[in-house]
Amino acid sequence: MLPPMPRIFSGIQPSGELHIGNWLGAVQNWVKLQYSYESIICVVDLHAITAKYEHASLSQRTREMAIGLLACGIDPERATLFVQSHVPEHTELQWMLNSVTPIGELERMTQFKDKSQRLESVPVGLLTYPVLMAADILLYHADLVPVGEDQVQHLELTREVARRWNAEFGRGESYFAEPQALLTEAKRIMGLDGQAKMSKSLGNTVGLLDTPEEIWQKLRPAPTDPARVTKKDPGNPEICNIYHLHRYFSPPETVAQVVENCTGAKWGCLDCKRVLADNMIAALAPIRARALELREQPELVDEILAAGAAKARAIAGQTILEVRDRMGFLQSAGRLIH
Ligand code: SF4
Repeated sequence: MLPPMPRIFSGIQPSGELHIGNWLGAVQNWVKLQYSYESIICVVDLHAITAKYEHASLSQRTREMAIGLLACGIDPERATLFVQSHVPEHTELQWMLNSVTPIGELERMTQFKDKSQRLESVPVGLLTYPVLMAADILLYHADLVPVGEDQVQHLELTREVARRWNAEFGRGESYFAEPQALLTEAKRIMGLDGQAKMSKSLGNTVGLLDTPEEIWQKLRPAPTDPARVTKKDPGNPEICNIYHLHRYFSPPETVAQVVENCTGAKWGCLDCKRVLADNMIAALAPIRARALELREQPELVDEILAAGAAKARAIAGQTILEVRDRMGFLQSAGRLIH
């Protein structure tokens, strides 16, 4: 019998439609990883409520995110894809982990410090967000977590929480193994404004489901090297976001041509953007087509998510039973350890 595949946990907020930053930075990698790891992929709607959010559209954004993931190639036959709030064990474990998490550690989290200082009244959820993240990961005994640099600190807290819980309740064992970071090539996709990371809240994205015309209308006004005032002025592609996007969407010979035409002032920025737009449109066309099909079948998407939640609960339920037992709770007669 083959040894079991290592298990990975990945979460993504239900921001609605995926953009090329999410795709290049995370989702493309998850699609690859599902062939070598047992992949648990969760749309983390409970995390999304820790900041002000539009509740009227939360359910729609959650389904849209699932559609985006499926359209990108997440295969529900391989990966377990589900919505976090459909598996209540996440919040149950979070509460239990709260009992071993020092407040000081949470207050030290960079993201908490950044976000809380912009708020007049800081919700507890913002502080305990990393404990929910720890619960997400530990609930499934994930071996690895694909993370970007900005999440490494949260993963370190998960490991710390696991150690503390094991020391208190592990009965001399490491019941919760400490998950490792699966650091992948850092792809920090800049927004079209060239100022900050691509992010829906900054309005500087290209949506994976944008029409060809929408893609062109977004690329056309995007800033480039300011030295290129006219076609005759040579530019430096390294400082131009359009060039960096070419590297993700255009073949190597085109990337080389961009460098030559830019540094040699052989074409204008609009010519350069047109080539990028065409390559981007071609790359995204199959994803867009699959997503449009899925949008027509919301019941199918909901069924996939329900099946994913059932698979997730089979693992999560067992973990909770064992955690309750180790923490000394009186087991309900209906919830015996198998
Ligand atoms: S020619 Fe292309 S790479 Fe050079 S500055 Fe213009 S858009 Fe950027």
